[in-house]
Amino acid sequence: MSILDDVMVNAKAAIDDFGKKATDIADSSVLAISANNIKNEIEKKYTELGRIYYNEVKSGSLDLDDLEDLTGEIDILMEQLHAVQAKRASMRNRKICPKCKNAVPKDSSFCNKCGASLEEESED
Ligand SMILES: [Zn+2]
Repeated sequence: MSILDDVMVNAKAAIDDFGKKATDIADSSVLAISANNIKNEIEKKYTELGRIYYNEVKSGSLDLDDLEDLTGEIDILMEQLHAVQAKRASMRNRKICPKCKNAVPKDSSFCNKCGASLEEESED
């Protein structure tokens, strides 16, 4: 378990540096671990959000401001996740459908899962 923890920590460090030196990250499997790591964080935030919401409704003092920080954190994690997924897809000569997040061959004009047009996507 401690080896896995080390990998997670390294993956997290990779994420922290992601914006600065994305090209230094050459290992697709590290990105996969990073993506899973972020997904787990997002699930934790959702759980926390639900717990706060439940407790506040239950006590009759629902304050949406209390939930705003968490929703903001989830948005940031989602952006990180999408950046990692896009990077990983591009390393595997694929790109991510903006509509359904399916990884499709890079030269596709349409998503083979949901049929969305992929022509406009040209960020690198
Ligand atoms: Zn799609």
